[in-house]
Amino acid sequence: MSNPTRVLVLNSGSSSVKYQLLDMRDGARLAVGLVERIGEETSRLVHTPLTGGGAERRERTAPIADHEAALKAVAEELSADGLGLDSPELAAIGHRVVHGGLKFSAPTVITDEVLAEIERLIPVAPLHNPANVTGIRTARALRPDLPQVAVFDTAFHTTMPEHAARYAIDVETADAHRIRRYGFHGTSHAYVSRRVAGLLGKDPAEVNVIVLHLGNGASASAVRGGRCVDTSMGLTPLEGLVMGTRSGDIDPAVVFHLKRVGGMSTDEIDVLLNKKSGLVGLCGDNDMREIRRRIDEGDERARLAFDIYIHRLKKYIGAYYAVLGRVDAVAFTAGVGENAAPVREAAVAGLEELGLAVDAGLNAARSGEPRLISPEYARVAVAVVPTDEELEIARQTYSLVTSPAH
Ligand code: AMP
Repeated sequence: MSNPTRVLVLNSGSSSVKYQLLDMRDGARLAVGLVERIGEETSRLVHTPLTGGGAERRERTAPIADHEAALKAVAEELSADGLGLDSPELAAIGHRVVHGGLKFSAPTVITDEVLAEIERLIPVAPLHNPANVTGIRTARALRPDLPQVAVFDTAFHTTMPEHAARYAIDVETADAHRIRRYGFHGTSHAYVSRRVAGLLGKDPAEVNVIVLHLGNGASASAVRGGRCVDTSMGLTPLEGLVMGTRSGDIDPAVVFHLKRVGGMSTDEIDVLLNKKSGLVGLCGDNDMREIRRRIDEGDERARLAFDIYIHRLKKYIGAYYAVLGRVDAVAFTAGVGENAAPVREAAVAGLEELGLAVDAGLNAARSGEPRLISPEYARVAVAVVPTDEELEIARQTYSLVTSPAH
């Protein structure tokens, strides 16, 4: 029999599991799906086989009690299309793991020790790692013989130098609590920075790129020769850019003030800064399409929210330009970055002296392909690169399990 070439990518959230089955001979998707509202009465599984032959999207709405039941349901759906977890063509399962701390700087085959280490990181990633651990446990129980790989959101950022990763606080206190800047969205920053080099016809080792991952969560990174040297998210995904519902950078004294003067509890402040801030806090909407529609109707609050979002973005472009010294490309990705031409235009406006410009026609054109949107004369390329975290997780997983060392 030929070697197995399929990889199942699992992204387990606190009440959801997203999955994709890919064939690594060409990166083709064989099936994609999502289980949401796990543990609620209204659980839903949406499964879409993509193997052709007229198979269609299927939906189940029966209650799904926990992650184990969710993965079993996913396995059943895959089996119904002849793509089950027991298929000899399945080479590995790749798990997205949000926090890998300092220990994991590369994709890692999951053993009991690795799983225990991911669990030890729960105090620094209380929102994400518990769900990732549950997903891994369940998948291992279903296929104990199959290689399973953890691909960490933080891994790409472990190359950050100490002067970028450390906060300027007491070193002993920081170390005692593992407080430092870890960065997130690393799989996306890795994928996009590599694709940009390809767009420029260069090797990733030759180019310096600023990647702007602008989704509901948003982060920027400075990538020198394929290695991350700075990123905007920190100990948690709260730092940095203005996001859909997160504040991004803020004076930490705002927290003391809200506590001492505002009478808010730590948990209330946590919810305020993570869920009720950013664009939603500023104008009530976190969808950039809705914000642009309101701006077109003359809505002042939407306008101010947009301006604050762009101002922060510009500051990071400038900062990372200075960190890198020479910039070959600025790349926009994720929901807002890939789709919102006005955001790209405004972020780069006025930066001609830095060699940055966008061509209005190229910027407005819609496409799902990686593309350049800067004019010929611009010194710095501006690119739109649709991110593909699942493909990158599958690629890293497959390359690890097929490497001679494995
Ligand atoms: P993500 O987290 O990458 O899925 O991005 C989600 C966000 O992308 C949404 O909250 C919207 O703000 C934004 N978005 C998605 N589609 C569009 C679009 N066509 N135009 C502008 N913004 C969009």
